[in-house]
Amino acid sequence: MNILIINAGSSSLKYQLYNMQTEEVLAKGRVERIGMDSSILTHEVDGTPEVREVSEILDHTTAIKKVLDMLVSRKFGVLRNIEEIEAVGHRVVHGGESFSKSVLVDQGVKLEIRKLFDLAPLHNPAHMMGITAVEANLPEVPQAVVFDTAFHQTMPPNSYLYAIPTVLYRKHKIRRYGFHGTSHDYVSKRSAEYLGLPLDNLKLITCHIGNGASCTAILNGKSFDTSMGMTPLEGLMMGTRSGDLDPAIVPYTINKEDLTLNEVNSMLNKHSGLLAISGISSDMREVIEAMNDGNEKAKLAFEMYTYRIRKYIGAYIAAMDGVDAIVFTAGVGENSDVLRKEVCKGLTFFGVQLDEKRNAVRSSEARRITTDDSKVSVLVVPTNEELLIARDTYRLVLEKQAADSSLL
Ligand code: AMP
Repeated sequence: MNILIINAGSSSLKYQLYNMQTEEVLAKGRVERIGMDSSILTHEVDGTPEVREVSEILDHTTAIKKVLDMLVSRKFGVLRNIEEIEAVGHRVVHGGESFSKSVLVDQGVKLEIRKLFDLAPLHNPAHMMGITAVEANLPEVPQAVVFDTAFHQTMPPNSYLYAIPTVLYRKHKIRRYGFHGTSHDYVSKRSAEYLGLPLDNLKLITCHIGNGASCTAILNGKSFDTSMGMTPLEGLMMGTRSGDLDPAIVPYTINKEDLTLNEVNSMLNKHSGLLAISGISSDMREVIEAMNDGNEKAKLAFEMYTYRIRKYIGAYIAAMDGVDAIVFTAGVGENSDVLRKEVCKGLTFFGVQLDEKRNAVRSSEARRITTDDSKVSVLVVPTNEELLIARDTYRLVLEKQAADSSLL
């Protein structure tokens, strides 16, 4: 079965086409600048050079049409015809409390996603455009939605509630939801597989450290606590996001700087984090480079960033009364041995013995970077959110087919 995975943003759309028998990516690409002049479609088939097409793509429906045309094109395509796509899976950022697992799309599901627009105004409306665009182009093809928040729906109330009047939770569902759930879910499963131990008897701390960053405490295979909150602003320091701060800073800054609430919100989401402290970049590579060149602000930014990760790891070890493995993933977590070394420096008390040679190895495979006798394992596990979305979509479609055929 071939499954198309879509990650739709407001003016962009990424895609990957999977063959689920082999779990091979047949083609992948992205459409950028949707709704603007000179939209760009970039298409890649393994082993051949990237194709780039510039045209006017005014909406998501046209963007999907262009992608489908590319997938069946004689020159760059990988399919004989469009009927070879048997299902579509979408990434959806916010599933609120309505979705604790992936589901097939129907009218009820679309209605629920719409109700959650308020909680993820930048993401969920764009995902809905992606779903509608696929419906317009492939009306008969089943679609599934996989939510970033769903994995964290197992958190107990003492993890997900904020210590504010409970009427705010009852009326407006103000609570911790957590994000990057697809990634935390994927790497926790892969880590258990790598360790050869049952996931339902493991204490894991997964650190998804990319442009956005979050840590999750995973107890016996279930999310127990996570650092992002009602929105992806809380928790670790990130590329441009502040992460945790005293909420009283918001009204204080508004008064002192004569800013609006929206301006402060934008400051905390887009002009804080690594970018604000280093004054150089939100990209960890550039910050590390500047630090190595002796830049003091870059050094401080790196220290603040790694210190926060270490603090969360310590807190989650206490929360779970122990840890079997700490897992690094995503752009920074997978690629920066310098960052991993700095975070692990403060964890020797818990029994983490980093193996510097193993830590320095670059690889796209899951690997252990602690010594063989380290009490706690530290792993680097490349994340693959698209594969998890494809697997969930595949499972849901097969279940539906089995249910339909048992009714015949
Ligand atoms: P992601 O959001 O997972 O795609 O991660 C993107 C981030 O990974 C970028 O902002 C880079 O700062 C970071 N990154 C990629 N490679 C490296 C590296 N070798 N060292 C440090 N950071 C890296």
